[in-house]
Amino acid sequence: MATFGTLSDRLTETFRNLRKKGQLTPADVDGTVREIRRALLDADVALPVVKEFTAAVRERALGDEVNRALNPAQQVVQIVNDELIGILGGQQRRLQFAKNPPTVIMLAGLQGSGKTTFAGKLAKMLEKDGHTPLLVACDLQRPNAVNQLQVVAERAGAAIYAPEPGNGVGDPVKVARDGVAYATRQQHDIVIIDTAGRLGVDAELMKQASDIRKATQPDEVLFVIDSMIGQDAVNTAKAFQDGVDFTGVVLSKLDGDARGGAALSVASVTGRPIIFASTGEGLDDVEPFHPDRMASRILD
Ligand code: GDP
Repeated sequence: MATFGTLSDRLTETFRNLRKKGQLTPADVDGTVREIRRALLDADVALPVVKEFTAAVRERALGDEVNRALNPAQQVVQIVNDELIGILGGQQRRLQFAKNPPTVIMLAGLQGSGKTTFAGKLAKMLEKDGHTPLLVACDLQRPNAVNQLQVVAERAGAAIYAPEPGNGVGDPVKVARDGVAYATRQQHDIVIIDTAGRLGVDAELMKQASDIRKATQPDEVLFVIDSMIGQDAVNTAKAFQDGVDFTGVVLSKLDGDARGGAALSVASVTGRPIIFASTGEGLDDVEPFHPDRMASRILD
């Protein structure tokens, strides 16, 4: 995967230099921490996250666990690995299902973030596990959005609930509510609600998403974010957290030649777990997110 290419190379180089040393002096630790800091900032990781991360690494690297280690440099690498897993959310977090079906999963995010594509990916994944998801088209903002979800549903082999022209068009909250009722009647055990996105965060969009949330009481609200969004990641994520109070994050376009900062910032600044990573345009290009595997990918 191209993602984290540069960050990964820079950290590898930093650790290679560190390994050449036997015992580590505080100056060695400081030099290493400075290089890690620069590499993270260049990868677009948000400044507060970088500060917290490097402070934690520095404190531990100057502590006894490194002094006593047989191989101090290796111990520092281990500390960086642990701390990376920490900012990526720690433990893997799986999707939560309702005790009484249907489980309602709402998707939110900026336009172009990969929401609609992810709706298809999620439906396909869930079908493989024996579920019968229903996609609900609540993006009534863009003329082509319902169409696009229809295409995605067909590719995923999933059922779709979309407003008939002239019937409920213009009222996404009603479509969402009706979609959940339809799923219950038709015994779909999961409802995936695709909502409208705008190019930038906007109050009307947030209100609409929040109204859909109130009307359907989702078990999960997944915020889909383009990994290539760079330094905007933090503000966008915070705006969606305030607006719809999402329960989990989907990182999309992790296959791109992104610098990867969004991935490293979003979980940490919102305190919400990353649940899935999307890695391509195909419907199979998605995987559950494992903080530990992602950390090793960065440090390999
Ligand atoms: P939405 O506006 O949020 O619904 O975004 P779409 O699902 O329409 O995706 C916008 C564009 O990004 C489309 O061209 C998708 O094919 C593409 N896309 C979505 N997910 C990924 C991904 O994980 N990797 C890559 N490379 N492209 C993606």
